[in-house]
Amino acid sequence: MGISYSTPQLVAVALGLQSPWEVVETRLDRTANHLRLTLDFARGARFACPACSTEACLVHDTEARRWRHLNFFRYACYIEARQPRVRCLNCGVKTVPVPWARPGSGFTLLFEAFTLTLMQDMPIRAVSDLVGGWSTIT
Ligand SMILES: [Zn+2]
Repeated sequence: MGISYSTPQLVAVALGLQSPWEVVETRLDRTANHLRLTLDFARGARFACPACSTEACLVHDTEARRWRHLNFFRYACYIEARQPRVRCLNCGVKTVPVPWARPGSGFTLLFEAFTLTLMQDMPIRAVSDLVGGWSTIT
């Protein structure tokens, strides 16, 4: 017997999300053929400094970001989240890496791994056609 999940729970489990990150919205746009997963961190969450590992730094501000993720069936999937910057007493303001992507990347780790695997055996153009490339959504 499997376990029944709500949609946000299912997405959180599939992404391997851990506290303080949570799924706050899942929106399937059948016209534009994309699935948008909105993640956020719990209110009041603190993060370790990415430079010196000082624990529990206060969030200074956030930047709205979007990452291309693996397709969900035939829908292009995007993760959207507020990426936090902490104010570290030693280092100043530092961007906190998110657990699903490399710093600075517009793709999730799973998307990168999937496309790199395909590119070992397929031309880049064919991989791009398969995964839908990078499309602009608003
Ligand atoms: Zn620091």
